[in-house]
Amino acid sequence: MELLNVYKDLCKNDRWYNAYCSTGENSNGKILFFLNTNYRNLWVFEAGYNVFKEIENIGRDQWIHNENHGEEKEKQHTVNMLRSKIFSRAANKYYRNKKGLTFGDMLEGNFSKEERWIIIYLTILNGYFANMPNYIKIRSNDIVNMMEKRGINKKDYIDMLKDFIDSCDIGDTEIYMHDYLYFDSFYKNFEDIDFLQVFINASDAERTKLKEYVKSQPKNREITKKETCTISYKYKSTGSYVKSTLIDNAKIQYFSLILLNDTYEDYKSFIDYALKKYSEIYKGIDIKKIKKFIDSHEAVYKLIYEEVFNIVKYSLNFREEKEVNEQEVNLNEKIDDTDASSFDKYNKVSTVLKKLAKTNSNYRCELEDFFGCQYFTSKESHRNYVEVHHLIPRAVGNDFENSLEVVENYVTLCPHCHRLLHFGEDVERKPALHNLYLKRKELLHEKGLDISEKELKDYYLIEN
Ligand SMILES: [Zn+2]
Ligand SMILES: [Zn+2]
Repeated sequence: MELLNVYKDLCKNDRWYNAYCSTGENSNGKILFFLNTNYRNLWVFEAGYNVFKEIENIGRDQWIHNENHGEEKEKQHTVNMLRSKIFSRAANKYYRNKKGLTFGDMLEGNFSKEERWIIIYLTILNGYFANMPNYIKIRSNDIVNMMEKRGINKKDYIDMLKDFIDSCDIGDTEIYMHDYLYFDSFYKNFEDIDFLQVFINASDAERTKLKEYVKSQPKNREITKKETCTISYKYKSTGSYVKSTLIDNAKIQYFSLILLNDTYEDYKSFIDYALKKYSEIYKGIDIKKIKKFIDSHEAVYKLIYEEVFNIVKYSLNFREEKEVNEQEVNLNEKIDDTDASSFDKYNKVSTVLKKLAKTNSNYRCELEDFFGCQYFTSKESHRNYVEVHHLIPRAVGNDFENSLEVVENYVTLCPHCHRLLHFGEDVERKPALHNLYLKRKELLHEKGLDISEKELKDYYLIEN
């Protein structure tokens, strides 16, 4: 069957049409688009930041209420701002953390639009959108895997993205002649047709015919009800998938694929590489100026780099704790963990709490009744060797008003059970997590940490 006929037939299917025109949580319009379904394009961070700055340190009950929307006008931005760790929350108020202050410095720094883009991108890299820690990196790896399954290698896909970005100046209708648009639109098989695969397998002449057809179609579904066209409707000029969103999508994917799948000698070579690659796209940007800005906020960017590449591991600590002076430690303070200097503070608090958690559990694994754990004796403590795990992962601390650094969130585990929770198959992690959740649910609630089991499973990336 010809590509164009396959496409026309599918467009008559309302389910297919709606699935590909929507970016909703359960719609098909998600996987390739997914890299920024949660923020549409990077500029929302500027808009969100400015809204948030206005309500900084103002109690939520005093926010402006919008009668039409029912919710506070500011609320729509809260998730992005918290999950990109630009703002933190405490006692029902939002405040700029160190990363947020850096973001503000960038806005006031007289950077051009293109210069700001790369700084924003680097700033949100360690965000955890869609409940997924390190979201951008995980999703960019998903894209590579999905393309390779269809026989498109990483390099070819990157070339396609680059070509699309390089031709940003093309008109709105010419955009329909780009393969990238079709990749962005049909990444997932629907019912029994994987349209992207059919597209990939078609000849150039077949593809051109399809693209010419899409280009010629009106962009309003009301007009096109009989002879409908999914793509031209999806990318209609008034829709949410306008050209600028598409280009931003392509840029995010491009940078994620070239930056996040590589290894770097150190933080500096990562930044240099990112800026070098960016300057290949925008010749007019002032690399030195951007570099100087990033250098002067090194503590923030270094931590982002270390989190993105898993260089710092908060929870899987195999060594026993060194002694700290407990007098020096303030357990009630919520730590701003958005720059590298908070590390020392965090380590001290964590050391005290780990020791307390072990004592509370009498040096036994909290999954003992479930797995029947075995112990050996630690030469340091002369007790059972046990480790401590954050039940609610530290990376998602910004989702909570109250600090996660409380003994109620510290779970004592034997090495077997601890590694199981981090590295096991979902089918084995799920009952273990369920068991711990039941034990801690009430205790966490008493500390103002309310979480459902579903939310907790989402944080562990366990599919239901
Ligand atoms: Zn752990
Ligand atoms: Zn155990």
